[in-house]
Amino acid sequence: MLPIVALVGRPNVGKSTLFNRLLRKSRAITHDLPGVTRDRIYGECQMGDVKFDLVDTGGMVLESEATPELSKDFEDEIFEQAREAINEAHAILFVVDGKQGMSPLDEQAAEFVRRSGKPVMVLVNKVDSHEVAAQGTAEFHALGLPVFPVSAAHGYNLHEVREKVRRFVLDLGMDTDEEDTTERGLRLTMLGRPNAGKSSIINRIIGTDRLIVSDVAGTTRDSIDVTFERQGKRYTFVDTAGVRRRANIQEHLEKISVIRALKNSKRSDVTILVIDITLGVGRQDKRLIEFLAKEKTPFMVVCNKADLIPRSETKRALEAFREELRIIPYVPLIMTSANKGVGIGKIIPLAETLRRECEIRIGTGVLNRALAQVLEKLQPPVVKRRRPKFFYVTQADEPVPTFVFFCNDHTLVKESYARYLENQFRKLLGINSAPVDVVFRSSH
Ligand code: GDP
Ligand code: GDP
Repeated sequence: MLPIVALVGRPNVGKSTLFNRLLRKSRAITHDLPGVTRDRIYGECQMGDVKFDLVDTGGMVLESEATPELSKDFEDEIFEQAREAINEAHAILFVVDGKQGMSPLDEQAAEFVRRSGKPVMVLVNKVDSHEVAAQGTAEFHALGLPVFPVSAAHGYNLHEVREKVRRFVLDLGMDTDEEDTTERGLRLTMLGRPNAGKSSIINRIIGTDRLIVSDVAGTTRDSIDVTFERQGKRYTFVDTAGVRRRANIQEHLEKISVIRALKNSKRSDVTILVIDITLGVGRQDKRLIEFLAKEKTPFMVVCNKADLIPRSETKRALEAFREELRIIPYVPLIMTSANKGVGIGKIIPLAETLRRECEIRIGTGVLNRALAQVLEKLQPPVVKRRRPKFFYVTQADEPVPTFVFFCNDHTLVKESYARYLENQFRKLLGINSAPVDVVFRSSH
């Protein structure tokens, strides 16, 4: 497991801006993607030889609409998020606003952070130049924590702060490099509403297979990874403690566990979204699906409790699910009954297929022949009286198949044509179930 670093602070101090800044280098490849919203809440950072997970607590209100009682007290809510983030983080970047100066909320939050006993750095943001640095940071020294000025928006001192953060993470003494994927086997995360049947499915899958370890990973999180072996291969369900506990958490904590689940799915190869077939796709499921699609997460949808609907209804039920999934038609959809043991046997082979497709690496020759063929079939439409011209395509080194198209002007590539390219490449390269990313770059 990589170290987790949380960005904590009151709203509007610039956490999200800083988050994107710190992440930028590691995600440079998606920079030119048209129409991508960058409201990430969680991302992997690479600074030199150091890798860690960065969590932004600013954009965490994933379930706000579903839980109106949250509006009770905004400040309480911020603290609730901060508390959860602090609990599961190994280190904290506490962000304050150097322009506005110290607020009572900052002091309270700092008290929280201090009590956690975890390493903390204070980043005094919106210090936009060297001239105002001393003045902007002065009063924050009273917090008794190491203080660094920075400007997320304008880049002042950013390079130094990156280096400080790198040292800060390194000093945690944790493993900051990931294990070899073949050694550790396939990692799976279960997502879905409480009572959908996630635990039952895990129990069914593991069944009589050999359970190797059931260890508590890390000291700050009570996450239990369950590893088992089947036909000489290893599989791990990530954070099964989270799977179980979600069944009885309070409604207002639900969104936080969603975030935890989403983070788990980042640590896994394949995510399994379990839906109770008798309840259909709920609002939270829909958001999860949108999020997983946007994040290019390899996943499958499992419609469980099929034994509870009449056999004559199953076809229609599946069609209804397909319709809900139309934004991502490639996602595999299966029907199971954990109680009766039906369909459960398909889950692991499907997960294997997803991983195999994600690991596909295709040579430039094959890709460019495919491009020529696809262009011949359908020319890109003219935009602003200019037609995009494609030069060549390569595959980028990313966790899911990512094709980078070099062209005269990437702003001329329409969304519909991007979808056409993606679909044609899927067909020609045999990528049926995994996410595919297409990126356009201007080159001259
Ligand atoms: P969050 O709520 O803590 O995530 O804050 P945001 O990242 O959304 O930023 C809040 C506002 O502060 C936005 O309008 C940003 O453009 C602005 N902001 C962020 N960083 C800086 C900075 O370094 N300097 C200045 N002047 N404004 C900034
Ligand atoms: P989780 O909260 O998602 O882990 O759900 P559980 O695995 O704890 O299951 C919740 C309830 O649904 C339990 O009472 C299970 O026995 C029941 N359940 C799970 N899978 C099925 C199924 O396929 N059919 C039926 N009829 N009940 C199921």
